[in-house]
Amino acid sequence: MTADIIDGKALAADLRARIGAQVAAMRSTHGIVPGLAVVLVGDDPASAVYVRSKARATAEAGMQGFEHRLPADTPQETLLALVGRLNDDPAVNGILVQLPLPPHVDETAVINAIAPEKDVDGFTVLNAGRLATGQRAMVPCTPLGCLMLLRDRLGSLAGLDALVIGRSNIVGRPMAQLLLANDATVTVAHSRTRELPALCRRADIVVAAVGRPRFVQGDWIKPGATVIDVGINRTDAGLVGDVDFDAARRVAGAITPVPGGVGPMTIACLLANTLTAAARVNRLPEPD
Ligand code: NDP
Repeated sequence: MTADIIDGKALAADLRARIGAQVAAMRSTHGIVPGLAVVLVGDDPASAVYVRSKARATAEAGMQGFEHRLPADTPQETLLALVGRLNDDPAVNGILVQLPLPPHVDETAVINAIAPEKDVDGFTVLNAGRLATGQRAMVPCTPLGCLMLLRDRLGSLAGLDALVIGRSNIVGRPMAQLLLANDATVTVAHSRTRELPALCRRADIVVAAVGRPRFVQGDWIKPGATVIDVGINRTDAGLVGDVDFDAARRVAGAITPVPGGVGPMTIACLLANTLTAAARVNRLPEPD
């Protein structure tokens, strides 16, 4: 048996096209153009690549993009003042502060300064709390993209055994909350977990967000399981995920490739969240 490949690139393209059409309708019917502000501090090359692709996707969707590039030694006060101005700017519906921030800046303080209704990354404590308590939230883009891939493949997730490997605020924790909200039975594993292979072998759904190349072995996978590989690891052999793809593919029912799986969905979900933010602030129906 060979697993089906979950084509995140194609699904993300569909989603972006749908969003583009909704943006065009919002502009022509209501004269509203959703706007996304991206703040990049310092010159981390990976962050610069992410910001560039976010800016391109924003423009392609017909949204307005505002880019703020600040030097690595920007004082925290300056950054907080910028976030304050973006909070007050009616042309800005979404604010994204690219992480990581330089070490002299208190990342939590800056993120929590973002107005919750403009928090398109879903990282503020208010949106994390809303998600955890089943209230309407801005949901972090990477787990939201993973959920869409899972729903597209499996339909209902009710009663399925899901294992999330990783408990970061960006991926693992919100992923577990989303799976729980979708009625899966959820286990969250981390670096102190015992018997990870055994936990994995009973999972119908595995979401790997560890940050270690090919960490999840093929013989950990339950036959027919759906495997979502969030990992992006740069190795001598190029970009690889957190799952040993070639081995897992022989056992799983479906698996995301790296690249071309979760990554493209993350950016499409950022656009989706920006559109949602624009709709909510203008009291228009929620986009689907
Ligand atoms: P973090 O480093 O913040 O978290 C990694 C998690 O993995 C931690 O919870 C850690 O546990 C856990 N972990 C580490 N070692 C083990 C182990 N041996 N066994 C079980 N669990 C372990 O990473 P992120 O969540 O930010 O990112 C995870 C991966 O996803 C990275 O490769 C990143 O590049 C990628 N990523 C991809 C995105 C995309 O768009 N595709 C977006 C964001 C991230 P503990 O908490 O105990 O330390």
